[in-house]
Parts: sequence; structure tokens; C-alpha cells
Amino acid sequence: MRQTVVNRVGGQRRRWLHKMVCLPLVVLTAGVAFPAAVAAAAPLPQLDSGHFQKCLKKLQSSKPFRHIKAQNFWQYVPEEPDPSVISLLNRQPEFTRPVWDYMAVLVDAERVADAVTAQQQHATVLRSIEQRYGVAAHDVVAVWGVESDFGKTLGKRPLMESLATLSCFDRRQKYFRGELAAAMRIVQDGHVPLHKMTGSWAGAFGQTQFMPSTFLRLAQDFDGDGRKDIVDSPVDALASTAYFLQKAGYRTGEPWGFEVALPENYAGVQGRKKKKPLHYWKKQGLRLVNGKPLPSALKKAGLLLPAGKQGPAFLVGRNFDTFYRYNASENYALAIAQLATLTAAGETQSIGFVTPWPTDDPGISRAQTVAVQKALLAKGYDIGEADGKAGSRTRAAVRQEQRKMGEAATGRAGQRFYRMLLATVPAPTPAVATPPDNSGAGGAQGGTEKSD
Ligand code: CA
Repeated sequence: MRQTVVNRVGGQRRRWLHKMVCLPLVVLTAGVAFPAAVAAAAPLPQLDSGHFQKCLKKLQSSKPFRHIKAQNFWQYVPEEPDPSVISLLNRQPEFTRPVWDYMAVLVDAERVADAVTAQQQHATVLRSIEQRYGVAAHDVVAVWGVESDFGKTLGKRPLMESLATLSCFDRRQKYFRGELAAAMRIVQDGHVPLHKMTGSWAGAFGQTQFMPSTFLRLAQDFDGDGRKDIVDSPVDALASTAYFLQKAGYRTGEPWGFEVALPENYAGVQGRKKKKPLHYWKKQGLRLVNGKPLPSALKKAGLLLPAGKQGPAFLVGRNFDTFYRYNASENYALAIAQLATLTAAGETQSIGFVTPWPTDDPGISRAQTVAVQKALLAKGYDIGEADGKAGSRTRAAVRQEQRKMGEAATGRAGQRFYRMLLATVPAPTPAVATPPDNSGAGGAQGGTEKSD
């Protein structure tokens, strides 16, 4: 697409996205709960108030802000900068999360069940959206589920504060100034009220987690009230997502791809971008993972091997690429793809891929993370609320427990640690009138207060 639509960082900023290796993509999304892949709390940078005020004054009369009334500008901007966003801008990931951990959280039983329910609840409007934009309901719902947990996790940082700070300090000021001006435009035009403009530290907001500039290009008013409200109107949010995918090149009626089985000792082409016609793949000996021959539902597809040849394999087409456009990460796109497939099938039981991940220690779900956190709390660790998000305090506690267990202190809680830890805490006694721990309901509403 000439108008590249990476919502995180806006159209023309794609190159920045790929170059800025130290900025993990996932931290930009409010809905994706991987907040603290970061070294333990470094001191906040000192930001000069005087510089901030001077900078704002300059901005107010600069070109990007020419459409913003002076009175509004000064009403929208904060008095003081927020140093925590500068820390977040510069934080280094502590470790690389394996793809199976990423998938275990993004496509857990709870999210799949929620997606199936959401698709039923919004069936009528999703049908209209499908007619208007040509994007399948399950694909729209899957993006919604991954981006904002179906509108439940929007991010709580005041956008103007974050963006004004990022516009005046550290790197990428020019980029963030454009986003700040766009955010002001959205409020000034009456689409979203100022107090509802909250989101990730980098400025993604609403149920679609659009950057403000993406909003200006692509947000839709589908409920017809005259406002494009991706914060409070699921109808507008779903339509905006569909329009995003349409603009990214979505092909109506095409599947994103499918899981495949490789012939033994396959040593041929691989990679999402190396698209080949399906007859090419048939000739290479690839089959569907259930053994059946490849369908002809895709014109061209690339072979995606997220964990190498020993793990699950996928042929992915153009629609997979539109998911990728939403957040430039193949694992992210795969999470949406898998959630979409399960939602379409109404499959809430068997949610993994047919070929298992090549590990003896797969990742844990949000509900299992809650169980781990409850066990850690019971052991006296000060990790805050059991919110299903393995933040830095949770991981520090995991590390300590791992040391006690004589395990490598990685801070990563996988299935193995989950089992070992839960074996050490007494099961909740029914006498205390606690219903059987329905941990499946515990993860999602865990709040977002710790960080975004
Ligand atoms: Ca509307």
C-alpha cells in the first residue's frame, strides 16, 4: 500500500519502526499485556520544566499545530512533562520472549471464548461491516481481541501528557509532534473528549489502539452519530479496524493461510515474504497438517516457520500481511490469525496448533499467570495485584522461587514453573466459602494499573 498503515507509528514512519530495534513493538500496545520486559526500575530522568514550557510555546505557533486553536492547545497540554514515558521510550527488553509464551497469552482459552461471544453479540453489525468493507467478521473480532481485549484494556496514560512530553524531550520529537497535533485535532473536532484520550505511553489509544494520525486517516463513524469514537463505541471501533485491514490490502473471501505439514527434511524456500503459487508448494510436498492436499483458496503464499522447521509451519497469504500491518510482528499476526480461525470455527477447546511448539516447557495463559501470582502473594511476595500480567515484580518473585527450587533463575514462568509452584501451595479450602478457583475468569479484568 502506498499509504502504509502501521497504526503504532503512522504511515511514513515504518522505516523508523524497523530501525528502532531497542523499542519492542509489544510495549506500544495497551491490550497486549507484556508491560515489563524491562530491567528493574531505573531512576526517572530529570526533565526541565522551563524547557518544556518554552518548547510548548514554540510548538503552539508551529506548522503542525496550525489547525489547533490557541485556547484549545493550552487547555490540552499538561503543566509538567511526564518523565516515565521517556524511560519507556528508552527501555531495553530484558529478554526475548519465545513465540510460545507470546501465543499462550494472546490466544488463551479465555480470549477465544470471549471472541466467540463477541462475534455472536455483534453479529448484526459485523455483517454490515463485512458488506461495507469486505473484511470477515472473525478477522475483525480477532484484531479487537488482541488489541484491546475486546475494549476492556485501553491503556490509562493521558495521551496529551505522554505525547507532549515525547514532543519536547529525547529522540523522535518530530514524529511525536505530528501525533500530538493529530490527538488535539481529534479532541477539537469532538470525536473523543479530552478525558477519554488515554492509552499506551506512545500514544496508541481506543479499542483499535490506533495512533492519532492513523485515526485521522482511517477511523470510521459507523453508528452514524457524527463522531468517530473508537474509545466508547464498539461499532465505530470494529468498522475502523475493518477499514484499516481493507486499506492494507485485505482480500475478501480469502483465508489468511493454514497450518501445514512439511515433507521430511524440507530444505526449500521459507519466509512470509517469499510468496509462491500454491502449485509450487504442492510440488514441494507440503500438505495440510491433517494430511489432506493443500486447498486452492490462496493465490500465493509464503512459508512461515515461527520456531524453525521443528515447530508448527504455516502457509500465509495476503490477509496475513494485513494483520502484520497492524503491528509489524509476525508473531503478532500469527496470534490474530489463530484467534480468527478459532473464532470462525467456534472452537474453544482445542486451541493450540496441531504441531506442538518445539519445547518441553510451553507458555502459560493469563489465567495460569493469575494462579502463579496468587501463589506468590500467598507466599508473601509483594507483587501487587494478581492481574495476569507478568510484570517486573512478578518476575523478580519468580526468580527467587526458582532459586529456592534449584532451577535456573530466569524469571520466566512457563508450564514447568507453574506446576512446580502450585504443588508447593495448599489448595484453597472449600470451608472459606471460595468457589472452586475459576481462574479462567481471572485474567482479563485484572486491570491495567501497574503499567501499560
Ligand atoms: Ca460514531
